[in-house]
Amino acid sequence: MTSLTFYGGVGEVGGNKVLIEDAETRLFLDFGISFHRMGDFYEEFLQPRTNNALRDQLRLGIVPRVDGIYRSDLLKVEGIDEVLKEHGMGDSSLWETNVKSYDEIIRERDGKPFVDAVLLSHTHEDHFKHISLLDEKIPIFCTEITKATIEVAEDLGRGGFEYEFTAAKGKSLKRTGKTAFFPGAFDLTSGEPRPRQFNTLAGPISIGNILVEAIPVDHSVPGGASFLLSLSDGQRVLYTGDLRFHGRRNDYTEGFWKKVRNLRPNILITEGTRIDDDAPDSELNVEEGCRKLVSSSAGLVMVGFAWKDTTRYQTLKTVAEQTGRTLVISPKLAYLLNKLKDFPESGITDVLSEKSVRVYLERKESMLYSKQDYVSNKYAIGFSTKWSRGDASTIRTEHYDRGVRAYEIRQNPTQYIVHMDFFDFNELIDLEPPSGSVFIGARSEPFNEEMKLDEARLKRWLERFHINAPHHEPIYIHASGHASGPELIQMIKDIHPQVVLPIHTEKPQIFGEKLAGTGIEVRIPELGREIKL
Ligand SMILES: [Zn+2]
Repeated sequence: MTSLTFYGGVGEVGGNKVLIEDAETRLFLDFGISFHRMGDFYEEFLQPRTNNALRDQLRLGIVPRVDGIYRSDLLKVEGIDEVLKEHGMGDSSLWETNVKSYDEIIRERDGKPFVDAVLLSHTHEDHFKHISLLDEKIPIFCTEITKATIEVAEDLGRGGFEYEFTAAKGKSLKRTGKTAFFPGAFDLTSGEPRPRQFNTLAGPISIGNILVEAIPVDHSVPGGASFLLSLSDGQRVLYTGDLRFHGRRNDYTEGFWKKVRNLRPNILITEGTRIDDDAPDSELNVEEGCRKLVSSSAGLVMVGFAWKDTTRYQTLKTVAEQTGRTLVISPKLAYLLNKLKDFPESGITDVLSEKSVRVYLERKESMLYSKQDYVSNKYAIGFSTKWSRGDASTIRTEHYDRGVRAYEIRQNPTQYIVHMDFFDFNELIDLEPPSGSVFIGARSEPFNEEMKLDEARLKRWLERFHINAPHHEPIYIHASGHASGPELIQMIKDIHPQVVLPIHTEKPQIFGEKLAGTGIEVRIPELGREIKL
C-alpha cells in the first residue's frame, strides 16, 4: 500500500512535512518549520519555553503528532518519574504528550524504526529547521551543498537545541555540584553531541522500497533539489521542492527540464508560492537595475539581501566589478562562501582571493575594535567558530586582519557597495553616508504586518540619513526564488502527471482553474489526512 500524508505546507507558504509510505518504507519529504503556525501563537516576546519547546508545540498543533520520530529527551527526559516522586509531585501529567518517541517505537517494533529517512530539498528554514526535533538516528538525505549549508546554519545559529542540526546534545537530568547555590538539586543539562547521520545524494539510491533520485534545481539558496521517487508498485512521484527558472543556474534548469519533460509521473507534488503572480522575474534584470543605480550614485550604495542567497551575491559582485567598486559583504555570507568554495558544483570561488570583494568588520561590545569583542560572535572576525582555549591555531582572524571597518568606508564611500539590511542599520551611524547615497532592498517587499512596521522604521532611517533622496522611499529590486504562475502551469503541463498536489501556496485552488481541460487532476491536500495512491 502506498500513500501520502501532508503534515505541513498545506494552504501556507512553507512548513513542508510530507510523509510518503510504501508498505513498510516511510520517508519524510522535508521537515521545515511552519512560520505561519508559529505566528498564530507566538511572536518575538512570546516563544515556546526553552526546555518544553517540543511539548509546547505539540500541544498547540504547531508540529504534528506522529509517533516514532521525535527525540526522547525532548518528549520526556529519562529518569523524570523518580525525580517527580522525590519532589513530591505524584503525577507526571505536565510531561505527558501521548506521542511516542523514536526510541519507544524502536522497542515496540523490535528495532524497526517508523520512518526510514528524511529527504531535505534545500536549506530554507521552512524546509529543514525542524529536523532539530527529530531523533538523530533517523538518516537525513540531501545534496552535499545542502549538507554544507546546514552545517553553516548551525555554526552561525544562536545555539540551543533548535540549532542542533548535525548532532543532538541529548538533555538529561543531573544533580548540581557543590559550588551551586543549591547543591544536589536537579537540573537539566545537555550531553555530548550525538551526530546525525547525513547521506549526500549523488546518483539514484534505494531507501527501503523506494528508489530516490535528486534532480538539482535553481532556487534562492545553493544546493536545491527536486526528488523523483519510484515506488515498489511502479508508481512514480515527483516532488519539486522550491524552484525557479530565472536564476543564474541555467545548467540546473536545463538539466531539470531534460529529466522531467514528458515524465508523466502518477503524482506531482508542486510548490505554488507565486501561482497568483503572472509577472516574469529575472536575476539579470536585478543585475541591470543595480548597475544603473550604482553607476548614478554619487555616494555610498547599500544593498540588503539574505546571507544564504549566493546567487544575489554573485549578481552584486558582478555589479561591483563593472562599476569599479568593492563589494563589502557580511561575515555570515563570507562564512558560507568560504565553506562552499570547496565544492566546485557551487560555482563559488575563494572570497579572500576576490579583488572586488571584502568582508565587513562590525564594531561591537567595547566598540574599540578589540579582538576580545568577537568571542561571542566568532564568525564576525574570521572563518572559525570552534575555538579552543590555549590553542591559537583554532582561531581565525581574516576579517580582523583584512576586513573593512566603518571608518575606511566613511573616508571613501563612493568606492564601496555594502551588503547590509534593516537589522544592520546601526552601522549607518558609523558609516555616515554622504548625500547621493542609495539603499537597495534586493529582497521581497514586505508582505505582512510585522514587515510593514519594520518598513516604516526603515523609512525613518533613510530620512534621517538623507538616503534615497529626494523622497527617502525604499527601492526594491528583486527576483524571487520561485517560478511565476504561468511558468508553474507550463511546467505541470510539460511534466503531465496524472494527479497534481499543490502545496507551499496560500491559493491552491488556482491550480484547478488553470489546469481545467488538460486531463490533469488537481487534488488539494488536507492537513494530516492520508491520500492513498
Ligand atoms: Zn525555499
